[in-house]
Amino acid sequence: QSLIKTRWAGKNVFYYDSTDSTNLRIREAGDAGAPHGTLAVADRQTAGRGRRGRTWESPAGSSIYMSVLLRPEFKPDRASMLTLVMACSVAQGIMDCEAVDVQIKWPNDIIINGKKLVGILTEMSSQIDYINHVTVGVGINVNMTEFPEEIAETATSLRLECGHPVKRAPLIAAVMRRLEENYETFLETEDLSGLMEIYSSMLVNRGRDVLILGTKEQYQAHALGISPEGELIVRRQDGTEERICAGEVSVRGV
Ligand code: ATP
Repeated sequence: QSLIKTRWAGKNVFYYDSTDSTNLRIREAGDAGAPHGTLAVADRQTAGRGRRGRTWESPAGSSIYMSVLLRPEFKPDRASMLTLVMACSVAQGIMDCEAVDVQIKWPNDIIINGKKLVGILTEMSSQIDYINHVTVGVGINVNMTEFPEEIAETATSLRLECGHPVKRAPLIAAVMRRLEENYETFLETEDLSGLMEIYSSMLVNRGRDVLILGTKEQYQAHALGISPEGELIVRRQDGTEERICAGEVSVRGV
């Protein structure tokens, strides 16, 4: 905790040896009135979650499972952009600590050498036109050397990529510093305009063919970049441009 030299991000920390999901702990903390920037960190999660009910593998002793409470003073439709603000912060925080080149796979994954290193899950507790709080959860594979069979080909860790064990506390502190800075930039315009350059420079999808797996349709397209609202801008094969919202789709490289 003493490593975290911020004004609000990660100033108030709850630590768990084991918990079902740090996102659930932060949701509770939010309901109970915990301050903006409250951080929950666990050594292991027994029910780590991904998007759409998927699982985030969260074994003990080797990785970072953490969630941050944000009390945004902006419209609910802006909340999904916080996933991208966090993605930037985690990618920068990792590169502040280690000499690796990470990339962002829109909207919510960070990858190294084509493999998944980080997952991000944003959830909000809202009433109709008012957000009580937003929980942004982050799983970083830090020192794992083995993965379950289903993800053995697609997942990697910092240790595997850097060739040495990586300390968790300085990494958490670096991510909190970047988050505080990036969130304040985000608040100035309530969109990603101030972060476009950095986000785009790390965006792995840009200039690539992608397969859009939506709920209504699936199609191949060419990714052009992201909009200030955090949508992925793609060109379809018939030449029309489309803006895709993160909630609707999964993206695969083609
Ligand atoms: P996609 O990346 O296919 O669009 P998603 O973004 O919805 O999926 P996430 O919610 O980011 O998926 O993460 C859950 C998925 O990530 C799981 O279904 C599994 O395939 C994979 N996964 C689970 N645990 C880990 C882990 N520790 N490291 C890397 N990948 C993992």
